[in-house]
Amino acid sequence: MAKRVAEKGVVKEKRVVIRPDFYPQIKMPSGPELRRLARAGKITAEEQARMIMGQRQVTSVKNTSKFYVDLFRELYESRILEDTEMPLFTPPVSINPLFLPDVVVNGHMRTTFVEVKAISDRNKRPFFGHRQFAGYCGALLNNPGSKMLTGIFCYGGETYEKLYLCAKKKSHKEKHKCDNRCLVEKLSHSTNSLLVLPHNVLSFLLMLTYSVEMDQKNAQSSLGFEHYKRPYKAWMELLVEDFQRPFQTMQKILEHAHSHYLDLWGFKINDFYLEDLEARSVYSPDNLYCYSSRERNQRRSRFKIKPFPIIEYTTPCHSEWMKYFSEKLDLFLGDIGIKDIFYKREQRLAELRIENKEREAIKKEAKTEFPKKPPDDIPF
Ligand SMILES: [Zn+2]
Repeated sequence: MAKRVAEKGVVKEKRVVIRPDFYPQIKMPSGPELRRLARAGKITAEEQARMIMGQRQVTSVKNTSKFYVDLFRELYESRILEDTEMPLFTPPVSINPLFLPDVVVNGHMRTTFVEVKAISDRNKRPFFGHRQFAGYCGALLNNPGSKMLTGIFCYGGETYEKLYLCAKKKSHKEKHKCDNRCLVEKLSHSTNSLLVLPHNVLSFLLMLTYSVEMDQKNAQSSLGFEHYKRPYKAWMELLVEDFQRPFQTMQKILEHAHSHYLDLWGFKINDFYLEDLEARSVYSPDNLYCYSSRERNQRRSRFKIKPFPIIEYTTPCHSEWMKYFSEKLDLFLGDIGIKDIFYKREQRLAELRIENKEREAIKKEAKTEFPKKPPDDIPF
C-alpha cells in the first residue's frame, strides 16, 4: 500500500527512444509462392526455404548489431564526454578506410573508440577479429590520449528463441508476419547484461585465448575468412558476477586459463596494470525504448527495453598502461598473435596517406594551373 503511494509521487522520466536503421527483414513466403520461387531457381522447395532462412539469419545478426550499437551510444555517449580525467586535447580522428569502430566519441578532452559485441546467453563467447583488434591498437597508438572500450551485451535466456525464428502462434484470422518487430521485442525484453571492458583487460583476455580460423560468411555475417579470438564463457561469467574485487577476478581468470594450458607467454599478470582496476555495477535507465523501424509509413512498434545491469570496468592508469604497451609493443602484439597483421595495416595506412597527399598535391597543382582571370576573348 505504502509503495503505491510512493509511486504516485514519482515523476515519470521522459521516454528516450532509439531508432536503429534496421535492414528490412524478408518474409518466409507461403507454400505456393515458395514452390514458385524454387521452380524459377531450379531448386527444391526445401532448399529454397533453407536459403531464405539463411538470409533471415544474416539480417537478424546485422540488425542485432545495429540495435546494440545504438543502445550503447545512447547509454554511453554523454557519459564518455563527462569523463574528463586526463585533460589532454586530441583533435577529432579522421576516419580511415581500414578502421571502422562501432562508435567514436570525440570529446573536448579525448577520443574514445568503442567496439560493441553481442553474445547469446547460451554461447557467451564473443568474436574478436585479429584485424579488428589490431585496428584498435593502432588507433590508440596513433591518437595519444585516446581510449578504447568494448561493450559486450548478453541476451537470451531459458526460453531461448532463435532471433530469426519466431515461435509465436499464428491466429486463424491473421497470419503472423515475422519481421523486425519480433527481433526488437526479443532483444528489448531479454538483454541480461552489458559488460564494459577497457583496452588492458581486453588485451589480457585475448592474449590468454587461442586463435581460431573461421569463415564467418557461412556462420553469421559476411566478414569472410578471418582469424578470431573467442574468450571463454567462464570468463564472461566471472567478469559479470565477481566484479566487486576486480583484480581477484583477473587472477581467477588466469587460474582458469592455466587449467586449460593457456598462459601469458612471456608476460605476467602485473604487466597488464590490473591491480588498480576498478569496477562497478549500475542499472540501465527505466525509460529506454526502441522502435522496430524508422519509417513512419511502415508497421512499426515501440518496445520498452527492460532495465539490465551494466558492469563497468575502468583502468585509472590507462596512460601508464598505454606507455608500457607501446614500449613493449612487438612483444605484446606477438604474444596476442596480431603482430604481422598490425604492421601490414600500418604499412597500408602509410601508403594510403602518401596516396592522399599525392592526390591533394595534384589537385593543388591543377588549381594553380587554372587561369585566375578568364581570358578576355571569351564571348559573353
Ligand atoms: Zn515473429
